[in-house]
This record gives sequence, structure tokens and C-alpha cells, in this order.
Amino acid sequence: MKEITQQAWNKRPMIISGPCSAETEEQVLQTAQRLAATGWVDVMRAGIWKPRTKPGGFEGVGAKGLPWMQQAKKLTGLPVTVEVATGKQVQDALTFDVDILWIGARTTVNPFSVQEVADALRGVDVPVLIKNPVNPDLELWTGAVERVARAGIKQIGLIHRGFSNYGNTEFRNAPMWQLAIEMKRRNPELMMINDPSHICGRRDILGDVAQRAIDLDMDGFIIESHIDPDNAWSDAKQQVTPERLKEMLDHLVWRKEDVSSEEYHAALEKLRQQINHLDDELMQILSQRMKLAEKIGEYKKNNNITILQTNRWNEILERAFAKGDKLGLSKEFVTKYFDAVHMESINHQKKVLDS
Ligand code: PEP
Ligand code: MN
Repeated sequence: MKEITQQAWNKRPMIISGPCSAETEEQVLQTAQRLAATGWVDVMRAGIWKPRTKPGGFEGVGAKGLPWMQQAKKLTGLPVTVEVATGKQVQDALTFDVDILWIGARTTVNPFSVQEVADALRGVDVPVLIKNPVNPDLELWTGAVERVARAGIKQIGLIHRGFSNYGNTEFRNAPMWQLAIEMKRRNPELMMINDPSHICGRRDILGDVAQRAIDLDMDGFIIESHIDPDNAWSDAKQQVTPERLKEMLDHLVWRKEDVSSEEYHAALEKLRQQINHLDDELMQILSQRMKLAEKIGEYKKNNNITILQTNRWNEILERAFAKGDKLGLSKEFVTKYFDAVHMESINHQKKVLDS
């Protein structure tokens, strides 16, 4: 791998930015220069082939945009990255010296496509970033990583870009942070960067999502930027100018996962022990609760009554919401927690009824 690429790959945070799509040579070159001037950006991105939801939209300039990226690199010294979805696109990108490739969310969902890309990568020394699939399926994401790894690619990174959801929500793609956290836990050796642009779908909340990603110890960002965002040929609403990007990055609070201060470690250790202690107590109490549920199960069995009594369940939830509200626990959490407790309780009662 080339020295400039290696440096960018190892840098933390690694910042990738550039337009959703390469549109004209002028736009690519101007974006690259303005991005380089921010002092933040390590790699320039641009979509050359665009997977669009419906036909008739702008589907990318195609291979003719690749020399523009080469030119952008020459002008700024920034390594460049493009999205690839087919074997031919991999070959074209490599012919024009693209430094890092990425596999898009709509490709990660399809094992045939991922395999085709992986086959084209065999024997090539190029880093590859893999976006999460559009649907919340960690196995599919992992499968894509394995296919690329089996093709012999050593440098693989992950991009968290959120997951499709039905209906209108705050986000274009729901971040489902817990899935990113779980993927990181399973693959501690892989870097994971965050894509606030495709999570948000709009510029006003990019900073909030980016801060959240830093707080979760992500390794960097891929963020879309455009010299004239409102007139971008794709994803206009979520792009920002290179100058706005710099402002946003300047304002984020950059936290580290760890520091070596002894005082900090001692204080943290004490608090963690308290948490362990409370967790133990919670488990004990939950176990007692299940024993009570089993007793109720016995009464139900002797009187031939169904396990689930909807009225009673509603009453439990209403009480819990009211109490949770006073105690500063969100309704969302209380719902999830009681659903889990309720299911476990039903399982315990079922065992009694079946015995
Ligand atoms: C993109 O990065 O422009 C893109 C198409 O993103 P995604 O694959 O996340 O939809
Ligand atoms: Mn885009």
C-alpha cells in the first residue's frame, strides 16, 4: 500500500469527505482543494457509480469521473476512495489508481454482488471499507467482511451508515447504535467509522450524530461535502460545504477511549465496582420475582386459568411508566425492560403449567 494511504488508514480520527457524487471535473477539483484547506480531511470520497432507488435519477458520471479523482489527488496529495459494486467497477477504479475502495450498503445486502467484488479483489493490495447492509442484519455485514477477507484483503474497515426503516422518523437511516456497538465488540481488530450523512439525510443534525459516534469511540467519519450543497445532483439535503464541515469538526468534543492517569483509573474502578454490585442485586431481585411468578403459575394451574391476563399486564405497564417517569427512566427503556421481564416470567409460568 502507498505511504499516503497507509498514513490516512492509521490516523485517528480518520476523516473521509467529498461529494455524494462526482458531477463535473471542476466540482471534483474545487471540492478537493477546499477540503484539503480545512486541515481535517485525510481521504477524498466521491460516488462515481450511484445505486439509485428508482430509474431515471442521476446514476453517476461513470468511469469518466475516475481521471478527475486522480487529478484531485495530484492537486492535494489526498488519497481517494470510491464505491464499487461490480467486478468491472473494481477493475476500473484500480486502473485509475483509486487508493481505498468502499462497498455500499445496497451491495453489502447481496452476497452475489459482494462475492463478485471480492473475486475482483483477489491478489490486490488495497484497503476496503464495508458499509453495513441496509437491513439490520449483523450476519450479512459479517459475511461481507469474510468474503473480502477470504479474497486476501488485509486492510478492512467498517462503515456504520444506519439501517432502513419504514415511515417517517428523525433519521433517513436509523442508527441503531447497539448494532454498531455489537459489531465492534465482535470485531475489535477492525476499525469502524461513522457516516452521519446517510444516517441523518439532512444537515441540521449531522453534528449531534457525529458527537454520538465519537462518544461511542468510533475511529472516524465519512461525511459528504459539496461546493454547492443545495444544487448537488444527489443527496442535496445532507451535504455541507467544506467550510461548514470544518466548523462542525472544530466544534465536536474529541474524547479518547482511555488515558493513563492513575487517579482517573482508580475513580473509575470504584464506580464500576458499585455498578457490578448493583447489577448483582438486580439479578437477585429478578430471580425472586420469577419465583413469585412461578407461585402464581401454580395457582393458575390449579384453577385452569390462562397465563396471560391482558388487564393485569396493562396495569403493570401503566404503573411502571408512572414510576419510571418519576425516576428518570425513559418510556422506551421501561417498555423494553418490562417486555423482557414479562417474557421471562411467562416462560417460568409455562414450565409450571406444563409440569
Ligand atoms: C454513498 O455513500 O453515497 C452511498 C450510496 O451510501 P450508502 O451505500 O450508505 O447508501
Ligand atoms: Mn450519498
